[in-house]
Amino acid sequence: MKTIRLKPGKERSLQRGHPWIFDGAIARGGADAGETVRVESHEGAFLAWAAFSPASKIRARVWSFDEKQRIDATFMGVRIADSVNARARFPIESNGTRLVHGESDGLPGLIVDRYADTLVAQFSSCGVERWKSVLCDALLQATGCKRLYERSDTSARALEALPEASGWLRGGPLPGDSQGEAAGEIILQEHSWQLGLNFVTGHKTGFYLDQRDSRQLFADTVARLALRQVLNCFCYTGGFTVAALCGMRQAGVLQATPDTGQVGHVTSIDSSGPALARARANVALNGFSETSATFLDADVNASLRRFIEQGQRFDAIVLDPPKFAANAAQAERAARAYKDLNRLALLLLVPGGVLFTYSCSGAISADLFHKIVASAGADAGVDGFIAQRLGSAPDHPMTLNFPEGEYLKGLVVMKKASVQSLN
Ligand code: SAH
Repeated sequence: MKTIRLKPGKERSLQRGHPWIFDGAIARGGADAGETVRVESHEGAFLAWAAFSPASKIRARVWSFDEKQRIDATFMGVRIADSVNARARFPIESNGTRLVHGESDGLPGLIVDRYADTLVAQFSSCGVERWKSVLCDALLQATGCKRLYERSDTSARALEALPEASGWLRGGPLPGDSQGEAAGEIILQEHSWQLGLNFVTGHKTGFYLDQRDSRQLFADTVARLALRQVLNCFCYTGGFTVAALCGMRQAGVLQATPDTGQVGHVTSIDSSGPALARARANVALNGFSETSATFLDADVNASLRRFIEQGQRFDAIVLDPPKFAANAAQAERAARAYKDLNRLALLLLVPGGVLFTYSCSGAISADLFHKIVASAGADAGVDGFIAQRLGSAPDHPMTLNFPEGEYLKGLVVMKKASVQSLN
């Protein structure tokens, strides 16, 4: 068994249960990619069993803090079963579920999403790469699913000196699927709507399951306040668009009636053509007419500026941008970009309008995000009620020991009805 010994004082985060060992913390020792090492303090006391990663700044990731634990196929099977069983205790209204959420589930670097009866996995650390085959078998056994597709085509693999990889690891296309376009097609049932996705060609594992409950809250808000003019920025495959239309249908504002005034309409913006095509299809899939939604293949920031010039206004806006900061060094520039978007959105809202705004950058804390949106409000001369703080759906858990698990944060801001100018 290979051992790594830490520098004096570098054992503290491990003793608090944090699973990462950075390269700078190691005094001596090493191993092959993904090999299990015994981690010791400077004095030689046992700290953890970890997977070694020779090229990564995160040089080792902990499997277990229990000296008696053997890191073997049985261990992997138990971790997978624990993750899958934990989901049965979370409120999840969908047949799309995140079954394994990396470090939060004690499986550093492993993401597994279940879409109906298909598993889609991403292996982004040397440890789970080495145990890939065992993990795949354990996943099929714990879920009863018969097929598993790999989407390890993430830039995070380069940080571990692993090549990108994708393709079937277990099972394969269903009868009727071709190897081409039709492969990877799934229709999810989420809350009261359906959303088509493609796990072969879509972003990440194909879909953003983490926003599931925000989409429901958005639908509820649109219905409760009978909102009619909605703008969904960074719409991807139209999850929030469909949610908004469902809310409008519930409020009865999709048809013109003598007393309803404006007819409900959702404008959705994304810079990806294929995502927009899917969003349009998802609107039809849920029985909404083409005239109830407009799709713009455009840059969000430029579109918001154009809407302001044109004097357009919206009752509700969703801002769910991609990750602007990949690490702490990019946080400041990202903060400026978030602030600008939020300033423009707050200007575009009618008084009393509602903003659902998000950041999925781990390097931007919930506190900092709050400050960014506050400062966007100050610049826009707008005040608002913070109606709710939001996070990822419960199957993307954070844990007490791993605060980095909190990557997605959001705010629901209700613009005050009478605006006091701050200028
Ligand atoms: N809200 C979505 C997920 C958004 S992911 C959901 O619930 O599923 C972020 C999206 O932003 C991606 O679809 C990406 O294509 C899009 N995007 C990235 N940069 C953009 C830009 N500058 N303008 C418009 N869209 C952009």
